[in-house]
Amino acid sequence: MKYRYISDSHCHSQFSFDGNDSIHMLCDSAVHMGLHALTITDHCECSLYEQTNARETICRSVMETRKAAVQFEDRLHVLKGIELGQATQNPSAAQEILELCDFDFVLGSLHNVRGQPDFYFIDYSQTDVHALLNAYFDELCELIEQGLFDSLAHLTYPLRYIVGDHNIEISYEVYQERIDSILRALIQKDKALEVNTSGLRQKIGEPLPCGMVVKRFHELGGKYVTVGSDAHRWADVGSGVEAGLETIRRAGFDSFAIYVDHKPKLFPLE
Ligand SMILES: [Zn+2]
Ligand SMILES: [Zn+2]
Repeated sequence: MKYRYISDSHCHSQFSFDGNDSIHMLCDSAVHMGLHALTITDHCECSLYEQTNARETICRSVMETRKAAVQFEDRLHVLKGIELGQATQNPSAAQEILELCDFDFVLGSLHNVRGQPDFYFIDYSQTDVHALLNAYFDELCELIEQGLFDSLAHLTYPLRYIVGDHNIEISYEVYQERIDSILRALIQKDKALEVNTSGLRQKIGEPLPCGMVVKRFHELGGKYVTVGSDAHRWADVGSGVEAGLETIRRAGFDSFAIYVDHKPKLFPLE
């Protein structure tokens, strides 16, 4: 199926520690792909806020995004976003950065559990994976309760490494209740769930979270789903978003959301 409003609500520029390309290049790439909208969401890791000069970097990202929005005005909707990591671990930093810039869209992320390294760096042969996942889900609940975001990014982020890179099997059934309670909390707070398509180009081979979780979000009464490639270079902009939209449609939704000034705008999946 071909969609009319293919958009990407998650990508990183050179203003992210792990990004490479200018915002202009990312937008150019989006235009070439025929995207409707692109939201720039550079990293602000609240847990490293002071050490990484995040304040200045994010302000520059927003300034460049604003410039690109003017330059690409008649070809692409360019929106100002941020991927706010670990807001639970430094709430005052999170508040500060959100007040400093007028974002259209905030992705809420958790790349590490409090006191632990990023899931990317963990030695899983020396780790109680079940306990770690439970700690992750506990902190996600806290993140939602805190509520400083519009859409919850890559809900199953740890599985990118645990399942994808380390081939440790995780049974969805074991965590179904935990995931349900997270989805219910999102719905209660009127927040969106992100379908992150980076998994489609990584070893895990499925979006984060997978279609089953998106379907459950719909069954429980979820209204807003965003889709993002999580591109860290121009060549990945828009990657997998059509498949992501298909996952959302198959889950029972007839629209997906793009955020402008923190408000969800719904686009039909047609
Ligand atoms: Zn992330
Ligand atoms: Zn990201």
